[in-house]
Amino acid sequence: MNQLQNFINGHYVNPINNNWIDNICPANGQVYGKIPNSDQNDVQEAYTAAANAFPIWSKTTIEERSKILLKISDLLEANLDRFAKAESLDNGKPISLATTVDIPRAASNFRFFGNAITQFASESHESVGHNAINYTLRQPIGIVGCISPWNLPLYLFTWKIAPALAAGNCVVAKPSEITPVTAYLLGNICNEAGLPKGVLNIIHGLGATTGQAIVAYPQIKAISFTGGTKTGAQIAAVAAPLFKKLSLELGGKNPNIIFGDCDYDLMLETTVRSSFANQGQICLCGSRIFVEASIYDRFKTDFIAKVKALKIGDPSDKNTRIGALVSKAHLEKVKQYIALSKEEQATVLCGGNEVTVPHLENGFYLEPTVIEVTTNDCRLNQEEIFGPVVTLMPFKTETEALNLANQVPYGLSATLWTNNLKRTMRLSSELQTGIVWVNTWMMRDLRTPFGGTKASGVGREGGFEALRFFTEPKNVCIQY
Ligand code: NAD
Repeated sequence: MNQLQNFINGHYVNPINNNWIDNICPANGQVYGKIPNSDQNDVQEAYTAAANAFPIWSKTTIEERSKILLKISDLLEANLDRFAKAESLDNGKPISLATTVDIPRAASNFRFFGNAITQFASESHESVGHNAINYTLRQPIGIVGCISPWNLPLYLFTWKIAPALAAGNCVVAKPSEITPVTAYLLGNICNEAGLPKGVLNIIHGLGATTGQAIVAYPQIKAISFTGGTKTGAQIAAVAAPLFKKLSLELGGKNPNIIFGDCDYDLMLETTVRSSFANQGQICLCGSRIFVEASIYDRFKTDFIAKVKALKIGDPSDKNTRIGALVSKAHLEKVKQYIALSKEEQATVLCGGNEVTVPHLENGFYLEPTVIEVTTNDCRLNQEEIFGPVVTLMPFKTETEALNLANQVPYGLSATLWTNNLKRTMRLSSELQTGIVWVNTWMMRDLRTPFGGTKASGVGREGGFEALRFFTEPKNVCIQY
């Protein structure tokens, strides 16, 4: 049994309260580890370590910081197989995905921000006629908190930590208690890369205890959070009266709008992926599929045939396309949504059932599920399910498609399939989301602003946006 520990001041340590939580393997439903359920005393230790490290780290040259981040990136790449296996085991995701997406992206996050910080600059304003010049200092905030979810564990954990460190902050970070292992392993990599002790502190535990303790800690001056919308609201309620800087990346209910003039085969392949990658547990998955009426029947037949062919099974098998859902509780939540179909006059076109995988009978497997809805105004289309479930609905006109897409509380991403340039320009401008993909899905360039509107979040990550978030601008005005 793996007993994980907190990583504080460069050392692995037990939680002070000696309180532990089970870590469950989604593939077989068995407890296979324990993790600390840390409390405010551990947060206090982590904060102290970070505060002691800050005076030196914040004054470390950009070149030196960059060198260390690039080294962490190299070491993650060198340990790709070990990290990918750990991620797949901990999360239930197919090993192929962990190997090609999750861990390479975690390495890219460190490489990207290790390089980006060398190019980060601030403005100056010459006050012509006043003999004065203003310049902006972009200084590290101090000690910042980073809290991440379970769906892309190391990928999202490092997406916050890397820019925070690059900008000269020291960090108290908490991964999801449901997928803690790769974050735990990261500590050793940081030591090996020469990250000074206390610059990054990783503590484990439940959201309501450990997470809450980080958010409520008065001297932790900024919180970067990715997770559910309800949790985001709770965090904002605690952080706002303490005047903390907040970045919130929250849930989504993303439209995938398909017009008859698209490149059909590419659209079909990509739509299978954008619906069910990572068992549909990606905030960017296109969970509401709207199809132009002229191709609706053809799409329905072809899509269902492809979905039925997806191989569900052991996440450690490299041919598996659909692994296990992350937890029993999450599986039950997703099943409840599927059961709503009856009440909401919707039709399950395929899937909907739990799957028993030989030798892994207690794992959390569910068939990829396609539901035809009759209205956008139903819970199936308005609430985030975050599992292998998509809905289908036809539309007749561009205006109708736009209204369907926008009539939802969320605003993270949208996907658009069309070869009509004018329509692309019109819709891209009118869609109420932070990201619009046209004739592609989840193609990421790390320089771009990433985040959502409406209930999908506040603020943007990515590129210089992240470095701006993790720095405090100070205007200096000099008259001469
Ligand atoms: P969650 O909100 O339950 O938990 C996220 C993290 O917050 C975990 O580490 C958890 O322990 C912690 N937490 C929970 N309650 C807390 C509290 N009161 N104070 C401080 N921390 C607390 O989310 P989840 O179930 O882990 O992740 C799924 C959600 O994340 C989905 O809604 C998904 O859309 C969203 N998500 C969004 C993005 C994005 O970029 N917008 C990316 C991935 C996932």
